[in-house]
Amino acid sequence: MPELPEVEVIRRGLAPRLVGRRFLAVATGEKSLRQASSPAQLRHWVAGRQLLRLRRRGKYLLFDLEGGGTLLVHLGMTGRLLLGPVPSPPLPHVHLIFKVEGGLELIFQDVRRFGQVLVFPPGIAPAPLAQVGREPFSKKVTPQWLAEKAQGRLRPLKNFLLDGRLMAGIGNIYACEILFAAGIHPTAPVSRLSIEEWELVLKETRRILKRAILKGGTTVANFLNSRGEAGVFQLELLVYGRAAEPCRRCGQIISRITQGGRSTFFCEVCQK
Ligand SMILES: [Zn+2]
Repeated sequence: MPELPEVEVIRRGLAPRLVGRRFLAVATGEKSLRQASSPAQLRHWVAGRQLLRLRRRGKYLLFDLEGGGTLLVHLGMTGRLLLGPVPSPPLPHVHLIFKVEGGLELIFQDVRRFGQVLVFPPGIAPAPLAQVGREPFSKKVTPQWLAEKAQGRLRPLKNFLLDGRLMAGIGNIYACEILFAAGIHPTAPVSRLSIEEWELVLKETRRILKRAILKGGTTVANFLNSRGEAGVFQLELLVYGRAAEPCRRCGQIISRITQGGRSTFFCEVCQK
C-alpha cells in the first residue's frame, strides 16, 4: 500500500511533465473504481482545464485545476498513476485515462479498485482532507506537540504512528522501520514516552521518509512510479517483512506480532 514516500515519488515524477499542460479529455474503462466521481463530472470539471499545481497531502494527490476545481487521487491498495502514451496492447485494470496536451496520457490503473478519484468544483474543499493530520515535515509537528497528543493515552506507539489524523502518510512499513531506528518497542504506551524519545521518533520519522523518497519509494508488492519503475527502498528495510531472520544490528531473530489487524516486525533486544 503506497505511503507518503511513494505518493511523493509519484508527485515528483508527474509534476514537471504535467503542470502547465491542459487536460483534453477523460476516458473510462469497463469497470469503475469503488470511489470515483462520475465520468460526466470528471469530463465537466477536468477536460479542457490547465493543471496549475500538483500537491500532496498525506497519501492524497491534489491536482489544482484552472478555474478553481481540484482533482483528488488516492492510490488505495494497488492504484498506479502512469504517464505516457497508452501502451499497446492496452494495460489491464485501467479505470481512467486522462488525455493531456502534448500527446500524453495519465492512466489510473488499480487491480483491487480501492483507489479514489474525486473531483471537487471550485469553492468546495475536498472532504477527505478534513481527516488528514499534520505533515511529518511540517514545522507544526514538534516533539512537544506529539507528547501533548499522547498525554494520558495508553495507546501503543505503533498505532499512534499509523493514525493519519495525527501525522499524515505513515503506513505499516515505515512505522515498523521508524520504531526500530528509534529503538522503541511497538507496544510502548504513548503516554510513557519522554520528550527525548519523541525527539528521536520524529527525527527517525523524517530521516526514513526522506531517504525512502530519495530511493524512489518501497516496492514490496506492486508499487511503481509514474514511469512504471519500481522503487528500491525495500533493500534498506531492517525489520519490515523480515520475521524469523536475524536482526541486522544484534543477531536476535526478528519478531512478528499483530497490532490493530496489521503485522508489526521488531527486534526484542534492540527495541525497549
Ligand atoms: Zn536487534
